[in-house]
This record gives sequence, structure tokens and C-alpha cells, in this order.
Amino acid sequence: MYNPKSLKAEEFIDNEEVLATLAYADENKNNLELVDALIEKAKLRKGLTHREASVLLACPDEERIQKIYTLAEQIKKDFYGNRIVMFAPLYLSNYCVNGCIYCPYHLKNKHIARKKLTQEDIVKEVTALQDMGHKRLAIEAGEHPTMNPIEYILECIDTIYSIKHKNGAIRRVNVNIAATTVENYRKLKDAGIGTYILFQETYHKESYEKLHPTGPKHDYAYHTEAMDRAMEGGIDDVGLGVLFGLELYRYEFAALLMHAEHLEAVHGVGPHTISVPRIKRADDIDPNAFDNSISDEVFAKICALVRICVPYTGMIISTRESKEVRGKVLRLGVSQLSGGSRTSVGGYDEPEPDDERSEQFDVSDQRTLDEVVKWLMELGYIPSFCTACYREGRTGDRFMQLCKSGQIQNCCQPNALMTLKEYLMDYAAEETKAIGEKLIEAELKKIPKEKVREICIDHLEKIEEGIRDFRF
Ligand code: SF4
Ligand code: SF4
Repeated sequence: MYNPKSLKAEEFIDNEEVLATLAYADENKNNLELVDALIEKAKLRKGLTHREASVLLACPDEERIQKIYTLAEQIKKDFYGNRIVMFAPLYLSNYCVNGCIYCPYHLKNKHIARKKLTQEDIVKEVTALQDMGHKRLAIEAGEHPTMNPIEYILECIDTIYSIKHKNGAIRRVNVNIAATTVENYRKLKDAGIGTYILFQETYHKESYEKLHPTGPKHDYAYHTEAMDRAMEGGIDDVGLGVLFGLELYRYEFAALLMHAEHLEAVHGVGPHTISVPRIKRADDIDPNAFDNSISDEVFAKICALVRICVPYTGMIISTRESKEVRGKVLRLGVSQLSGGSRTSVGGYDEPEPDDERSEQFDVSDQRTLDEVVKWLMELGYIPSFCTACYREGRTGDRFMQLCKSGQIQNCCQPNALMTLKEYLMDYAAEETKAIGEKLIEAELKKIPKEKVREICIDHLEKIEEGIRDFRF
């Protein structure tokens, strides 16, 4: 029985409710009066329900789809301006006891190189990431009780935060590890993590169980209820995501929004971020096994709808997507982007030899961070290395309130300019630097409060003089 307030996975992601939603969407997809009314409702920037959003996803009318794109672009501009927050993934270990059939790290894959970073390796990898200019990492690890216990993850987080190389520092570590206990989430919270990210992969229980035939991840309820345990453990910024291409995308989309509604109903705060990965070719994975892959057009529509249905939630896109696709969906609402990524265990400090490859998926966007930064600026975006919010205690509902009132804009714009300035001073190529300096000059004018603008100008001068880490 559907109940968004229930703590039971099968009640807040009730299969019957998802199916009823899809039927409702099918019945109404050509009801243009309703579609128009929903687009009007979305303009209020208060979001749409999973049922409403599903009607828009099913609607084939080209003119309405364009209206959705235009609105997504506008909401993106209003809430996020032209800023894009940069991050990089860091794979700690690919030892894994699970049997996920779409991932090359599954237990039975005997020919992928198994690796686990030592603390010395982490120092090298993080130094290399700092030398690229990264300030924000998402750490990733397979699930393995003896190779990757929580103590190992905590030690890695400690090491990462402790490395200060030249002007570099990792200021925010987001964590993407397997579903775990409230006690372990509390430990992660105490270690000072940013967002806890866990992809659902698919919300369709039957498919989920088939795709995860062995290992602890097989337990659908334990996995789906992980965010509730994370929040109980004190982590109030959580990141959702599904792996598009595993189940039918309309099912996933409706259920993803139901999950967001559940978090809001129970904890008073929705997801901090939503990721939209699509399945990619990888070692020991048969791409033909998944016939639900989605086209670039559908992918763009999903991104636009996420933007208008959950306007306050950040949207993340990885290097799984090509430069072209990233360029398109950036406009439609993506707020965070990885750059210069390696999806192998190690590989930032030294490239992996061909016979020891350990990557989780093929990277479509192979450009360096500096190339991505330059490209973003040429498209008119401000690459931001800001990590201020959680360091200032702006998390969970406090963060959401600032977002909803629009006040966060007084922090995001100056923080983006100051962290970009740090990047330009410490890491950028000459050409990137020249473009960036001009951009900062132009963008300073867009800081609404004069006092904030003055402080920002002062900080920018101090950054020139070598001082770092200013924030609002
Ligand atoms: Fe392990 Fe995660 Fe890969 Fe599954 S998706 S095999 S849990 S690393
Ligand atoms: Fe994100 Fe907060 Fe920085 Fe804005 S000020 S970019 S919301 S961390």
C-alpha cells in the first residue's frame, strides 16, 4: 500500500503506485490542456509530483517538449545562474563481494585487475588531484567486509583531508559506498563527509533482484532504505540516482521522484543531489544484456524534467557522457560536473598499464580538467570549486531554506568567482587564465549586494597576493 511516510521500501516505492502512475501518464499524455497546466504549475518553482512529472515525460508533443526545455533553462538560470560546480571521483578499491551484472567489479569477474589504494597511494593520488586543481572529491569503493571495511574508508577520508600540497586542499569529500548501518553512517558523518551518495540502480524490485543475484546488495529493502538510515545517522545531505538503461526509464523516473517525496515527507528535506548516469560499456559486461538504454533525446528530457520537478536539488553528470551530450544537458539544469576523471583504482598519479586495467566504465569525456574549465568558460559558464556550504554548517533543511528563499545566491556567485580565481592563479594554462580573468571581471557585476561585491573584490586581491580559502 503506497505510503510516502512509511519507512518500508515497498510502501514508499510501491510497485502498484508506480504502475498506476505510468497508466495515468499514458492516459493523459495527449491531454494538452493538462500538460499546459502542469507546465504552468512548474513555473511556480515549487516542483511537481511524480504523477504530474510522469505525464510530462510521456507527452510526445514537440511544442510542449520545447516549452519544458525553455522552462528548465530558466529555472536553472534563476537558481544556479551560470555556475557549474566541479568535482572528481576517486576510486579507493574495486574489491567487491556483490554480483551486480552491469558492473565489471562484480565478484565473478576474474580478469579485471583488483586493486586497493594504500594510504601512501592515496597521498599520491590526492596530490595529483590537487595539482589538477580539484577541491571536491567523490570517493567510491566496492563492498567488501574485509578488504573495504568502514575503518578503511574512514582512514582514507582522514588521509584525504590531511593532505596539503602547495596551495591545494580537498575541502569536501562526498562518499559513494554500499548501503550500511546507522552506526556506520554516524561514523561517516563524524569524519566530516559532504554528501552520502548511493545509486538505487533500479527501483523495480524484481529486476533489482535479478541484476543483483548475489551478495548483500541483493537485499532490495536494505538498499532502498539506506538513505533513511543515513539520515538517522545524522547525514542530512544525501544523493540519489538510478542507472538509466537497466529498467524502463519511465518506471525509474516516477520511482526516483517518489523516493525524493519520501525523504521530504519523513525527514523534511529532499535529496541534496540527483545523478543521472546511463549504463556504459565496460569489462566483462555484455552491453546487449540491457535493452532499455535511452536515447540522447530522452536523456535530455529526463534532465530537464528533474530540473523543473525538484528545482532545489543539484543535478550531477559524469564523464560517462560525451562532451556533446554534456554541453546539451548543462543548459537544461545540470549543476555539477566531473572533469579529468579516472574511473580506475589509481590512475591520477600515473596512468594504468594496459594489462592492469581496473576501470569501472569507459570515460566518454577524456579531456583534462583544464580543458573542461576552459570549455565551460567559452560556453559562458563559471566553473566553481566552491565547497562552502557544509563547511559553514549549511546542510540539510538549513541549506534548503536558504535555497528556497533565494538567499543562497549571495554565497554561490562570490564563492564561485573566488574559487575560480584560486584555480586560475594556481593551476590554469595561460589561455584558460586569460579567459577566466575576463569572466571574473564581468561576473562580479552580477553580485546583487554591493557590500558582498566589495568584500569579494577585496578577497580576489588577497588571492592574487597568495592568501587562499575565502568563503561566504
Ligand atoms: Fe560492487 Fe558497486 Fe560494482 Fe555492484 S556496482 S559490483 S556493489 S562496485
Ligand atoms: Fe554549493 Fe553552497 Fe557553494 Fe553555493 S555556496 S556553490 S550551494 S557549496
